[in-house]
Amino acid sequence: MKKEMLQFIKLNQQTPNKRKTDKRKDDFNEIYNEFINEKAKEQSSRCSQCGVPFCQIHCPLSNNIPDWLKLTAEGRIKEAYEISQSTNNMPEVCGRICPQDRLCEGNCVIEQSGHGTVTIGSIEKYITDTAWEQGWIKACAEELRKLGYQITIYDRYDRPGGLLIYGIPNFKLEKFVVERRTKLLKDSGIKFIQNFEVGKDKTLDQLREEHDTVLIATGVYKAREIKIPGQDLKNIYPAMDFLTASNKKGLGDKVDLFDNGTLNAEGKNVIVIGGGDTAMDCVRTAVRQKAKSVKCLYRRDRENMPGSAREVGNAIEEGVEFIWLTSPKRFLGKDKVEEVEINKMVLGEPDSSGRKKPVIQKGSEVKLSADLIIKSLGFDPENLPKLFNANELAVSKWGTIKIDLKTMQTNLDGVFAAGDIVRGASLVVWAIRDGRDAAIQIEKYLNNKAEKTFQAA
Ligand code: SF4
Ligand code: SF4
Repeated sequence: MKKEMLQFIKLNQQTPNKRKTDKRKDDFNEIYNEFINEKAKEQSSRCSQCGVPFCQIHCPLSNNIPDWLKLTAEGRIKEAYEISQSTNNMPEVCGRICPQDRLCEGNCVIEQSGHGTVTIGSIEKYITDTAWEQGWIKACAEELRKLGYQITIYDRYDRPGGLLIYGIPNFKLEKFVVERRTKLLKDSGIKFIQNFEVGKDKTLDQLREEHDTVLIATGVYKAREIKIPGQDLKNIYPAMDFLTASNKKGLGDKVDLFDNGTLNAEGKNVIVIGGGDTAMDCVRTAVRQKAKSVKCLYRRDRENMPGSAREVGNAIEEGVEFIWLTSPKRFLGKDKVEEVEINKMVLGEPDSSGRKKPVIQKGSEVKLSADLIIKSLGFDPENLPKLFNANELAVSKWGTIKIDLKTMQTNLDGVFAAGDIVRGASLVVWAIRDGRDAAIQIEKYLNNKAEKTFQAA
């Protein structure tokens, strides 16, 4: 049914209802309710079908947003899904966890004109969740077999899913969403080998011999350190240790460091240091674990936080106290951390990145009680040439893998790399984009190789 668009003039913006704060603080379930069909249609019809859609330009996957919004407004959800999935392998994941306020929605024309963005992420999630419910998403084992591909994923963790399963908390991305995708890949014939460490279980060279091509997509996991006095005191942990313990617990695993209370925030004064999305995941996890107090220290102000403004808002609603313009000076305590001494900061002249540089205000020291400190200052690449026992693998001065930007190939023939291990810590949606680009380049490489072999024969 044809549906009039441009309804933003009459219809106000509405996101799916957010669960009440006192309820959502008590569990790890997602905080947004589902869009009902009529609401998804109505909200999609607010789109003004821009000739130059800035939403699409600012989506790393160049999703064809105006088209799937129009189809949704017309109730043609299956077609909307077909278009949405043609550029995105995991639309239901992006709909949940992309920082839309910095990407598609933040650049929506009607947001810019003050009418409130089309709620693109929620609609993308609605379309794909409907596709799952209706059974439109199917494994493609036969197609892969016909194409002649055999794909094996080697993963050092005990469960597939990487950061989606162990890094991102349930209240943003419930685990069944990730497990459903993983099952689809397995049903499509992709082989998963868990608890496998390249360099230990097999060298990179061995993998190259066994496979026609290898793609390195390890992500970046090395936590950035805070080098201040008291850093070796007990109960100071990197964000990923804290989040993994919580996520594993949620999945029903036995986690010693959680079970003995070390990585459980319950009843503790928790301080999270950092201002990115991972820091927001930590503060909100600590709230749900029933911490006595949760504070977030960030050295710039709220406007300059690198994380999604929406997530900061959610954390504030849930009772997190943000102490902006502060930096830890030293951790204090006998054996375990008991306090952190902080300095107040002011924003000075812009630094080389163009952002105002935080400068310490002399004599501004204050002490805060702390039983658990979580460090969330970002991630760096591990030393992959060393880990993989492949010293010849070229890396940049930052430790990321060097690739030819056109072919995505490393300096080793048939070895490709993509995602955070090439671009540095970034968003899931960029990893999907890089994965899609790498797949195209790998196919080209294999076709060229097959052609050469054919000509030589
Ligand atoms: Fe927006 Fe992310 Fe979806 Fe792109 S993938 S449309 S940025 S939510
Ligand atoms: Fe629709 Fe906004 Fe995209 Fe324009 S920018 S096409 S109004 S979603």
